[in-house]
Amino acid sequence: MPEGDTVFAAAHRLRAGLAGKPLTRTDFRVPRYATTDLSGWAVTGVRSVGKHLFIDVSAGERTASIHSHLKMEGRWQVGPLGTRWRRPGHTARVVLCTDDVEAVGFDLGVVEVLADPATAVAHLGPDLLGDNWDAATAVANLARSPDTPIGVALLDQRLLAGIGNVYRSEICFLHRVRPTARVADVDLPGIVETAHRLLWENRLRPIRSTTGVTARGRELWVYGRDRRPCRRCGTTVVRDMLGGLDGQGERSAYFCPRCQQP
Ligand SMILES: [Zn+2]
Repeated sequence: MPEGDTVFAAAHRLRAGLAGKPLTRTDFRVPRYATTDLSGWAVTGVRSVGKHLFIDVSAGERTASIHSHLKMEGRWQVGPLGTRWRRPGHTARVVLCTDDVEAVGFDLGVVEVLADPATAVAHLGPDLLGDNWDAATAVANLARSPDTPIGVALLDQRLLAGIGNVYRSEICFLHRVRPTARVADVDLPGIVETAHRLLWENRLRPIRSTTGVTARGRELWVYGRDRRPCRRCGTTVVRDMLGGLDGQGERSAYFCPRCQQP
């Protein structure tokens, strides 16, 4: 499940592979940009903002940015030119090559080339992994919807950017609140601080862990563990459907009915 840390790590790999180099070939496999050709343009930077990723390019005076979003299934593969693709070719949405590196974006939910990239993320709240992370603004944004379930509010990228389905369940567990608890009834500064700490700790980890353990099957407290015993108290973990506000509808939330009392 791509969350802010996944995108941050993808930006890190793309930056290492592409930054400072001219593109020798580009192939946009989305109708709107099918004829766009950025070969000859140089990659000037790669950055993530929440779950959005930008590959900035320039040619002389002209600048643009390749904006992408992983949505549910997206992934960037970066490797030496000619590396075998790890996903089927028909799922590739964009291919970017330099002299020695090939980057392929598979199953991306969004691919577009923007002259003014700031517009794509103008609606987002503070970025949990951004240089200008602002906890106080994130808390204030969340507090404006006191009756919203905290598990729904945490997914609203307009309030704070970077949390997905995995982290919302884990954060609620760590704070002993149900995902359905009202925003007004939870410790918002504490929750925001936990969100920031978890994403920061995991930003470049190959295996995401909220328990502090990266051994297989022991990385998470409750996410994906329905019908299994809570790691803290042994009670059976429950899965419930809870909406997201990012257009992806109902999604699973997990909690321990004993550790997280209503
Ligand atoms: Zn428990």
